[in-house]
Amino acid sequence: MTYDDNNIFAKILRNEIPCNKIYEDEFVLSFYDINPQKKIHVLVIPKGKYVDLDDFSVNASSEEMVGLLKGINKVAKKLKISVDIGKGYRVLANISEHGGQEVPHLHFHLFGGERVGKMVE
Ligand code: AMP
Repeated sequence: MTYDDNNIFAKILRNEIPCNKIYEDEFVLSFYDINPQKKIHVLVIPKGKYVDLDDFSVNASSEEMVGLLKGINKVAKKLKISVDIGKGYRVLANISEHGGQEVPHLHFHLFGGERVGKMVE
């Protein structure tokens, strides 16, 4: 799938629409999900144009990969859900049709602040 420059997260990255920002650096942007499914539900997205995790795994640079993983940890620390200062959390990436992906820009959901529960419904 080719990257759609008009997807909603691309617009957030270009500051065309607002988000409730938690963290930003060279590699990632993190903001609160607009429709939270748990007490804490945030998204972490890479700044690069990647449709999904498959696209990212094949085409992103090593620097971008490290930046994204470290970004997730930085966000978890900031929200006090990381294992060193909190009680843990769940990371989820939906990929394409069977994964139930709605927004075609790679994003990781972070759920926490309470027991997240069953892994798959
Ligand atoms: P997915 O099904 O994995 O593609 O999830 C997309 C997520 O993006 C959903 O949880 C939506 O609630 C969330 N979402 C959609 N638009 C926005 C937005 N403008 N700001 C924050 N979260 C959004």
